[in-house]
Amino acid sequence: MIANYHTHTTRCGHARGSERDYAEAARRAGIQILGFSDHTPYRYPDGGTGSRRVRMSPDELPDYAAAVRALAEEYRGSLEILLGLEVEYYPFFFSQLLEQLRQNGVEYILLGQHFLGNEIGERYCGKAVGDETMLTRYVDQTVEALETGLFSCFAHPDLLGYEGDGKVYDEQMRRLCRAARETDTPLEINLLGIREGRQYPAERFWRLAAEEGNAVLLGADAHRPEDLLDAASEQAARDLARRCGIELIETLPIRRI
Ligand SMILES: [Zn+2]
Ligand SMILES: [Zn+2]
Repeated sequence: MIANYHTHTTRCGHARGSERDYAEAARRAGIQILGFSDHTPYRYPDGGTGSRRVRMSPDELPDYAAAVRALAEEYRGSLEILLGLEVEYYPFFFSQLLEQLRQNGVEYILLGQHFLGNEIGERYCGKAVGDETMLTRYVDQTVEALETGLFSCFAHPDLLGYEGDGKVYDEQMRRLCRAARETDTPLEINLLGIREGRQYPAERFWRLAAEEGNAVLLGADAHRPEDLLDAASEQAARDLARRCGIELIETLPIRRI
């Protein structure tokens, strides 16, 4: 990989390694563009930041932004470092969130939808479900997110596993792929899913994306610095893309927010 835009930091509470450790690992891996995209903070009406330890608190955002920017300055000329975030599209919080991200100079956002609605009272959507409503809601919500035209990439679009009728899955996921194509938003084959043997990447999904002519790239979704050196998962993802007839793009046109 010459570029990876999907990198976490310790702030989310379930990743490890300093920003510098990731930058050094990226250099060893021959990566030329390293985008940090830690999980976006949200402040909920109860004052909390969500039901699980999945993200930094809003107060940590300025420090995150400053740390990544300082590193970008330091590595200038040898490694291009970008300041991004992996954002859940929650309609209720979105415009306020954008304001905060702009204030902190965030350069790009990835769409990473792990919960539906506004998260409050919702289940994680990465578990396989037989519930067609959940599939439809996932597609409705992510299509709406894509239509904002603000996301540079859609990370693990195939996160939602559906165990129901294959025809229903195809119909809904084609709708997602078309919205991505119409809004020029590349889709990400997620290497963490391969690394951890998760239900995604789902080959059925990527065959649809190939038919729909989506732009597709790889994302390390690094939660440990050494994930950037995981050549085996990268190779498995490239093999998957080839089997499906997808020609990968290697860099992302960054969409300013
Ligand atoms: Zn994570
Ligand atoms: Zn991620």
